[in-house]
Amino acid sequence: MPHLLILAQPVPPRSLEMLGDLTEDRAIDTPFGPVGPLARRRQPDAATGVWILPYFGSPTRTDPRATIWAAKSLGVQRILAIEGMVGLAHDLTRGDIVLPVDYIDWTKHQPTTFFEQSGAGYISQKPPFCPDISAAIREHLPAARPVIYLGDEGPRHETAAEARMFRQWGAHARGLNLVPETYLAKEMELCFAAIGLITAHGADRERAYGKGEVRRATREVLQALPAILASLPHPPTCGCNHLQDGARQRGVLPDDWREWK
Ligand SMILES: [Zn+2]
Repeated sequence: MPHLLILAQPVPPRSLEMLGDLTEDRAIDTPFGPVGPLARRRQPDAATGVWILPYFGSPTRTDPRATIWAAKSLGVQRILAIEGMVGLAHDLTRGDIVLPVDYIDWTKHQPTTFFEQSGAGYISQKPPFCPDISAAIREHLPAARPVIYLGDEGPRHETAAEARMFRQWGAHARGLNLVPETYLAKEMELCFAAIGLITAHGADRERAYGKGEVRRATREVLQALPAILASLPHPPTCGCNHLQDGARQRGVLPDDWREWK
């Protein structure tokens, strides 16, 4: 079963040669719009490969439901996003690697569910991100600091007042691409987790000037990726793939996920 890797800035998709040779290139039409092109890479001895989807945030980002639907239609069970984030916490700085462990959804114009008709979106957000993928990230990127993520939709940056407010709420880092994706993935019984790269400071902090630290951190994440993907348990032990068992048993959702709405 292939994985889906969602790549937002600052990771250049061409930097992924270590995940294997390019074996396929595909665009997918979904009920929520087209997705892709997605590139599939596979190492010669690997049973599974990875689909890679560049993802550059608002205002150009795809309808998040299209992304999740495309992943499902490719037979993907696990989505790992890598995203550049703004460091709101005073002790986060450019080049830090972080692991989102919880989130605050501050988006205002994004779809919040696949299930406007059936009401099958009453899904627990505990845990907010897939435990299997998060454990693999902790194991192979031990420096990744656990953070509470604030999902915004931009494209503008936050104001200094907003940065202070977000921090008072408990948020450590802000980004554009993990919500609503993470909870829409849950609705479709997919695993979702992310690695964050701090690329800037919040607007109320002193500006951080680059000295190559983001590039170094990106390389560290990319080097850990093959081990992270290879160490994911098969079958999953996290339970994400059974989140709709109850809705199926109650007859709220049919067996064929393509008919879910
Ligand atoms: Zn999972």
